[in-house]
Amino acid sequence: LQKEESTDASSGQGFKGHDMLAPFTAGWQSTDLHPLVIQKSEGSYVYDINGKKYLDSLAGLWCTALGGNEPRLVDAAVKQLKTLPFYHSFWNRTTKPSLDLAKELLDTFTATKMAKAFFTNSGSEANDTQVKLVWYYNNALGRPEKKKFIARSKAYHGSTLISASLSGLPALHHKFDLPAPFVLHTDCPHYWRYHLPGETEEEFSTRLANNLENLILKEGPETIAAFIAEPVMGAGGVIPPPATYFDKIQAVVKKYDILFIADEVICAFGRLGTMFGCDKYNMKPDLVSVAKALSSAYMPIGAVLVSPEVSDVIHSQSNKLGSFSHGFTYSGHPVSCAVAIEALKIYKEKNILEQVNKIAPKFQEGLKAFSDSPIIGEIRGTGLILGTEFVDNKSPHDPYPPEWGVGAYFGAQCEKHGMLVRVSGDNIMMSPPFIMTLEEIDELISIYGKALQATE
Ligand code: PLP
Repeated sequence: LQKEESTDASSGQGFKGHDMLAPFTAGWQSTDLHPLVIQKSEGSYVYDINGKKYLDSLAGLWCTALGGNEPRLVDAAVKQLKTLPFYHSFWNRTTKPSLDLAKELLDTFTATKMAKAFFTNSGSEANDTQVKLVWYYNNALGRPEKKKFIARSKAYHGSTLISASLSGLPALHHKFDLPAPFVLHTDCPHYWRYHLPGETEEEFSTRLANNLENLILKEGPETIAAFIAEPVMGAGGVIPPPATYFDKIQAVVKKYDILFIADEVICAFGRLGTMFGCDKYNMKPDLVSVAKALSSAYMPIGAVLVSPEVSDVIHSQSNKLGSFSHGFTYSGHPVSCAVAIEALKIYKEKNILEQVNKIAPKFQEGLKAFSDSPIIGEIRGTGLILGTEFVDNKSPHDPYPPEWGVGAYFGAQCEKHGMLVRVSGDNIMMSPPFIMTLEEIDELISIYGKALQATE
């Protein structure tokens, strides 16, 4: 791998050895870092500081659903900034945009009835909040021992102490003394990688549900508070659930009075071709986390949706336990809320589900047509999310030696041809903006094809 073609060394734009301690960046101490500096966005494209144009196949970081220059979102932010740039939502004071967004969100989520929305600034904070809510709930019910969380290997739920603990990616744990001891991890539901010889998807799902039940029984159901899952796993490599998986998992958690949390941070608002991942997989959660496309990433915001059962307990018991003393200065920030309200309006008015379902088949079929490539093990995805995994011998058990940098080379080739993808080892991830045109999908497929040919 030529140094100038690696993703870290991509563009060499004169910011050598910059001053940022950059998130999720290898070798941030190094003076050799040459970050790709993005300066402008337009629709499905971004531009670097030298004016080079890239198709943004990851929608920023799975988030700019409405693309790069949606004027209505900008206007909503400016209008709110001019009226009331900030007021908080503590101690029974709040702002109209946060009240309006809470109502809108509760009306938009229809997989189950939700009673309350709690605002955060990010997906990580939403998942941290989930843990505190669940603990508070169980304390209110007088069962202080019911505190453990079960998450899944390869999950990504964020990078704060608690959300990184819930995540099931070793890189988030190593050297950080994580996961915290109250978090247990169960199987990653990746059929291609983990199924036994001759096992069908349904049988695989049954085995995983049985493993979950055995874990619960081993730990003691009275100690397990909640189970958390992404509808489609994102950062773990884009892993849609195998057939019947969520039906079987939900039956187990229900049986043992364990709360079910859907982490919809990537999947919500249309990415899978349904408004929420829960709609697609018939998930009936007690709690939901959202962020990212909630504001199309124009302002930072996340939220937790709380079922009537959980919120009733919290409200009825709060006299005994004291107020729910949790929140952030910017919980329900009026500018973020105003932008999110406008984003939800646009999704409805522009019938974003119709748009996603118009372009998704071409995106999925066009890329999955490369599945026969000798270096590709699996291309998987649904709606507007897709992962590619490079392996030797087309076998999940034969990874390429990491030092070959196959994924990084492919990513650098995409970049060279004018497209940004996410590279994680030999996994490539894409989640384009919802507003991509069919012509842009053609361009995305064409660049992917060129990069693949160069990598083979
Ligand atoms: N949950 C999921 C499923 C995510 O994909 C992410 C981020 O990618 C998060 C939570 C964390 O969100 P944030 O980066 O906004 O804290």
